[in-house]
Amino acid sequence: RKLCLKRKSINCCRELELTENEINNVNLLREKSAHITKAARSATVANLLAPMLCIPMFKDEVQPINLAIWLGYMLIAVFIRTWMIFQLAHEAEKIIDPQRNLKIMTYAVGIVGFGWGLGWVLMAPDLLMVNRMIYVYMTTAAMISSMFAYSVNTATFFAFTLPIMIPSLSTVLWSVHIFPWPFSVGLASLYIVVLSISKNFAKIFEDSVRLRFCNERLYQELATERDQSIAANQAKSKFIAVASHDLRQPMHAVNVYLELFNLENLPTVEKKSLSKIKGSIHALNAMFDSLLNISKLDADVTQVNHRIFHLYELASTIHDLTEAKATRKGLIFNISHPDFLVRGDKLLLQQIISNLVSNAIQYTESGQVDVCFESEQDCLVIEVSDTGCGIAESEQQHIFNQFYRVDQTRALHDGLGLGLSIVQRLCNLIGADIRVNSTQGRGAKFIVTTPFPLSKSEEGIHAIHSIPKTKDSQRSLQGKYIAVIEDNSILIEAYRQTLANKGAYVQVLSEYESELDEQLLAIDRIDCILSDYRLSQTTGDVLIQKLRDNYNKEIPAIIVTADTSPSHISLFAKLNVQVMHKPISFQDVAAAIEKIVATTDATVPP
Ligand code: ADP
Repeated sequence: RKLCLKRKSINCCRELELTENEINNVNLLREKSAHITKAARSATVANLLAPMLCIPMFKDEVQPINLAIWLGYMLIAVFIRTWMIFQLAHEAEKIIDPQRNLKIMTYAVGIVGFGWGLGWVLMAPDLLMVNRMIYVYMTTAAMISSMFAYSVNTATFFAFTLPIMIPSLSTVLWSVHIFPWPFSVGLASLYIVVLSISKNFAKIFEDSVRLRFCNERLYQELATERDQSIAANQAKSKFIAVASHDLRQPMHAVNVYLELFNLENLPTVEKKSLSKIKGSIHALNAMFDSLLNISKLDADVTQVNHRIFHLYELASTIHDLTEAKATRKGLIFNISHPDFLVRGDKLLLQQIISNLVSNAIQYTESGQVDVCFESEQDCLVIEVSDTGCGIAESEQQHIFNQFYRVDQTRALHDGLGLGLSIVQRLCNLIGADIRVNSTQGRGAKFIVTTPFPLSKSEEGIHAIHSIPKTKDSQRSLQGKYIAVIEDNSILIEAYRQTLANKGAYVQVLSEYESELDEQLLAIDRIDCILSDYRLSQTTGDVLIQKLRDNYNKEIPAIIVTADTSPSHISLFAKLNVQVMHKPISFQDVAAAIEKIVATTDATVPP
């Protein structure tokens, strides 16, 4: 395995070297070309105005013929420069031949640099000191700006600066009287500084572009690995689902045959053995149920359906399902509940509480198990407590992980370590919070805080639209109903997890009309729609319109698409749909939903 990893890393390095060459050859040149074209474009106005300004200032001091030659040259040079740059400007987004572009830019800025150098020879010696200083200022300013604009490509930078530097220094040295000598020394030093800064700037630019390419590549590799691991996880779930399905058939037969035995007619030894077999088979059945539940959660087939129900209905179902188990073990079992109506998913809640109660019974040898329904900030809170073995503090952070079992409790119960991870995932699905309070040897208490509103009357429940926000900023979408329309199952799972972690109820909607109509019957509220644009049968905007027609015209919606065409952008703007362009992280999508939902009132059920 070590050898494999080593080989893999060598291959990776080779691959990276290859990409770096590509970066050097093409992408880096492309970046340079884009940078220079952009900088040159933004300096166009200054290039047009500067020679014009020289006319009123210099006309009385310079020989007319020299001024005319210089101006004529400058006008032609600036015109050619502007024309060349704007020819390239439309290519700025997608540079096909960066080498050619850089060559054009080098000529374009070179001829203007030559013009400023020509001015040194033709005009500077005739100018009075003030205007001569102005000319020094203008040419130096041009060079300093070229330091940042053109130095990323050495040829372009020198094509602009050398035609200014050489004539200016020659003029200053030739006619020594035109500046005091310390000034000329200062000018020469300034040129040296310009050259050295530009060299450093070019290096920094190149390094940062390389680093950016490396980061982009790493990001892509990470994204691919993440997709692969999600896909592998799904494959694993599929395997578990198929394997448990195939094993279920013979297990079912064993269950049936076992029921046929009449324990009463058997001798004592066989009776004992058979009871033990029955116990083991019950444990196996429970394990299969856990596997089936986890497969269902992985396969995204678990739907959240909110309905109004009486709390006593839920309490009595839990009582009927679990009381016998508790009394068989000699435990006292209590359920206390106020007389309230609740709006939420009763079945999922029942599954959560049953799992917690059966754990409480399994890990309690004597004493009692209590289930208590309470109201906290108008929302339903459930506490399941027991007087059992408790959970050590160091174990409490692990017990919700898949297949995790505490070593010390293995003897108490045969399980797979899936119960609490199922509970946690169901809690995420309904936007509930679960936490545990326990001291080893002194029992455990699991507290589930749901976003389900409860009240004495139906009107009271409907009045509670904005479910109280938790103090936890991580759960910023607490209680929000987000409809997700997407045809890629990997993305669906990622959206579901990201949004559920923030406390939202995620409804994955089908793009097929009949299925969608059926789903909509069970949904009474949507706070935000998140949709892909190109789906396999239709497009996201059509489905957004349908949902808005069904619920509320104002439901905020976000479309995530790779399509950047202006026609689509204007279509989305017309439909009042926010658009986000791929590639984009799930966290960014969630942040956009948070923002959009925060500014909009929750949609009232029809
Ligand atoms: P399983 O019960 O199949 O081992 P779970 O995911 O339901 O898996 O629980 C994980 C671990 O958490 C268990 O192995 C057990 O040690 C601990 N645990 C869960 N509920 C309780 C409880 N009420 N009291 C003590 N320990 C518990």
